[in-house]
Amino acid sequence: MAETLEKLDDLVSLCKRRGFIFQSSDIYGGLASCYDYGPLGSELKRNVKNEWWKAAVQMRDNMVGIDCSILMHPMVWKASGHVDKFADLVTVCQKCNTRTRVDHLKNAENEPATNNDLEKMVCPSCGTTGKFSEPMAFKLMFETQMGANADDAMNVFLRPETAQGIFVNYSNVLNSSRVKIPFGIAQIGKSFRNEVTTKAFIFRTREFEQMEIEFFCEPGTDDQWYEHWKTARMQWYLDLGINKENLRFRDHDPDELAHYAKACVDVEYKFPFGQGDWQELEGVANRTDYDLRQHQRGMRAVTRWIENKRDTLGTTLPDERDDWHKGPLSYFDEPNKKRYVPYVIEPSAGADRGTLAFLVDAYAVDEVGGKPRNLLKFHPKLAPIKAAFFPLVKKEGMPEKARAMYDDMRGLFNCFYDEKGAVGRRYRRQDEAGTPFCVTVDGQTTEDNTVTVRDRDTLEQVRVNCDQIKSYLREKLDM
Ligand code: ATP
Repeated sequence: MAETLEKLDDLVSLCKRRGFIFQSSDIYGGLASCYDYGPLGSELKRNVKNEWWKAAVQMRDNMVGIDCSILMHPMVWKASGHVDKFADLVTVCQKCNTRTRVDHLKNAENEPATNNDLEKMVCPSCGTTGKFSEPMAFKLMFETQMGANADDAMNVFLRPETAQGIFVNYSNVLNSSRVKIPFGIAQIGKSFRNEVTTKAFIFRTREFEQMEIEFFCEPGTDDQWYEHWKTARMQWYLDLGINKENLRFRDHDPDELAHYAKACVDVEYKFPFGQGDWQELEGVANRTDYDLRQHQRGMRAVTRWIENKRDTLGTTLPDERDDWHKGPLSYFDEPNKKRYVPYVIEPSAGADRGTLAFLVDAYAVDEVGGKPRNLLKFHPKLAPIKAAFFPLVKKEGMPEKARAMYDDMRGLFNCFYDEKGAVGRRYRRQDEAGTPFCVTVDGQTTEDNTVTVRDRDTLEQVRVNCDQIKSYLREKLDM
């Protein structure tokens, strides 16, 4: 029976040792909460994103993709509510000066703070109880300047979510493609948040990648689409091999819902940190018609500003017009001769958080020949390397034969060639990299044209004819 991961530190050191994930700017002592993906990690994360794109866009009739810029018109963030509301409530420990999110504080019994009651709460940094300042809002958006000349430079934000790029392109997509409601737009891209507390490796970082869908539907059909996406998104994690026992849904309580959301559910994963905490992997929200209506107000603010030739954009949005449902971001349903502002269902996942869950879930230690063996049991579709090719020894034409097979296969999927050291050690390295199959050319190959194929998880070794190795691996890997 293989052991699973108990301490995140074991995974962090495996990730560094095997080139999955490094601390950013490592040679300068590192930059807190920023991470770099190494040779294996960048393959893994790319596979996660590719599988998401395949499920979200490629395999669906009513979905299209988009790739928006990170810097956007400042009015986007005013209209979306981020300028005024995208902040965490924080408190400072008077003993050690550490700032903590109020919703992250726990008492000695590990219960969360309710109604901002701080007296019994314990500082997660120094352990002091109840010495907290009055809670205050801490803004999460990173701000920067754009423009070379002082007089035309403007303050812009690094986007804190990819969703708004989709909303502001909703009519561009509608007018340029053949989509009709119900349809969705998907995007993968970097987002930035100046998080108060970063913790647990790549779980919460200040620069991260999101995989988001905004699915536009007719009001009244939103509950049904919400259920559809909830099921589809859970199934995606299961299909890619995450253990059912480590996944669950958590509905948001009414008082926890964002002001614009009609319903929200988190897909949670049981991460091995905190107290074996269930943590959000992805959120699925019914955002109603809030964002499109807000952008209609934002568009009017900019029009007014241009007409009145003002120097600066006002700090308040104009009131919503009575005929907002006929506004520029409304949709005309031609067959039914109806006009409405669509409702939106948003499944919003983190590429890095997802990658961490796939790593944690794949981590295992078993025993082979009386010695512990570390392995990552990735689903073949996620494995950074699909197959490794080895000559048993560096002589008798074995390297040439193994190399030729490797060259023949690498155009199909990511492969690896290794001829150095004992073959047992080469196998162990591939187990730790999560490679599902190792193919070894040995003495018997010249006699009967077969090679050994070793299975990472079962350790079973079978002999396969060299002429069939390509189809054998393709079938096993399902690619
Ligand atoms: P939290 O409450 O954990 O701060 P959130 O509810 O604000 O997260 P969303 O705005 O719903 O998160 O973002 C959608 C997804 O993006 C999250 O489920 C998560 O996977 C990912 N995500 C959000 N913030 C971060 C971050 N700082 N680092 C890594 N991934 C993140």
